[in-house]
Amino acid sequence: MTEVKLVSLPGDGIGREVIEATLFVLRSAGRLWDVDFVIEPVDAGAARFARSGVVYSEQDFELCRAADAILLGALGLPDVVHRDGTEAGPDLQFRLRFDLDLYAGVRPVRRYAFAPGPLAGRDAFAFTIIRENTEGLYASRGGGAVIADKVATDTLIITAAGADRIIRFAFDHALASPPVAGAPLVTCVDKSNVLRSYAFFRSRFDALARGYAPRVRSERAYVDAFCAQMVLRPASIHVAVAENMFGDIISDLAAGIVGGLGLAPSGDIGDRHAVFQPSHGSAPTIAGRDEANPVATILSGAMMLEWLARNPPMQGLAAMARDIREAVDRALENPHARTRDLGGDAGTLTCAQAVVAALRGPQGCGNGSAAAAGS
Ligand code: ATP
Repeated sequence: MTEVKLVSLPGDGIGREVIEATLFVLRSAGRLWDVDFVIEPVDAGAARFARSGVVYSEQDFELCRAADAILLGALGLPDVVHRDGTEAGPDLQFRLRFDLDLYAGVRPVRRYAFAPGPLAGRDAFAFTIIRENTEGLYASRGGGAVIADKVATDTLIITAAGADRIIRFAFDHALASPPVAGAPLVTCVDKSNVLRSYAFFRSRFDALARGYAPRVRSERAYVDAFCAQMVLRPASIHVAVAENMFGDIISDLAAGIVGGLGLAPSGDIGDRHAVFQPSHGSAPTIAGRDEANPVATILSGAMMLEWLARNPPMQGLAAMARDIREAVDRALENPHARTRDLGGDAGTLTCAQAVVAALRGPQGCGNGSAAAAGS
């Protein structure tokens, strides 16, 4: 039996619902694959701040540091803010990113044939955005200046070490997850025609790209043109690497073109620690209404298992991750397993139950219903 020590951090709004659904899938799959999840729940976020004046405690942070991995729902509620107007909930997320050095934001998207959205009916495609997580414009969070109520500044920071490690991460990711057809490709997304910092990022990219050629092809794009490319020619993208704020923005656009945030998983990954969470936020307008799509979080759980499988004792988790991903595909073929954002009528847990019923397990014959019954 493989033991996985997880911190579950539901957070705010629909975070609680999608985490509950995902833990149900993980535990059910664990019964099939002989994996025991030891789960430490952490109550943190905006709701806790509103209640008690603190977003998280030091003990919570230490639990996260000690875990094999962290599964997060969503942190933040728009009305729960600090005096400077910034949201309180994400404080823990920033602390985890910076103190655990989770420098790579990995945001894979994939277009399902049935999914709604502006590209409905178009050919299937899949690509991954790699977002630099620890520097860029967001490194100024809390450090900008407002002068005499007349001028406000924030500073964009790119370091050679920070740029190099995220660029290498993107090239290594492209090699490890090759496209369905053709050679791996990494696109550098920046605004090097306007700002020196981005020109510097691109120069680091150019230097490193030479070392990966010809195994990985490389391209450069200005962020504005890249947005149009994502909508008009998404199949031409494999892996794109970008500075923190650009990466944040283009990954939401990527989620939009595959039919919604409810389908887009993500991982914030460092060399030793990682947090996995859906790309969406707490969506307070639909919280508590059994409407949240759990698929992005379930797929984030699968990403987590794949990341854990890089350690030899946990290698077997890669097959379990594949089983969960394929079960999601099979479950979503049934319109009644789809949530409202996908045009279906399923509630959050009903969708998760359909995924569990579609699990095949190590023998490939499935026993999902029995796995669920044992929960
Ligand atoms: P944040 O700034 O924290 O990323 P946000 O306010 O930009 O959050 P979300 O909370 O991600 O936005 O939600 C935006 C809208 O997308 C929601 O109101 C909801 O309609 C839809 N949405 C997001 N996630 C889901 C989901 N899992 N299932 C269904 N709809 C979702």
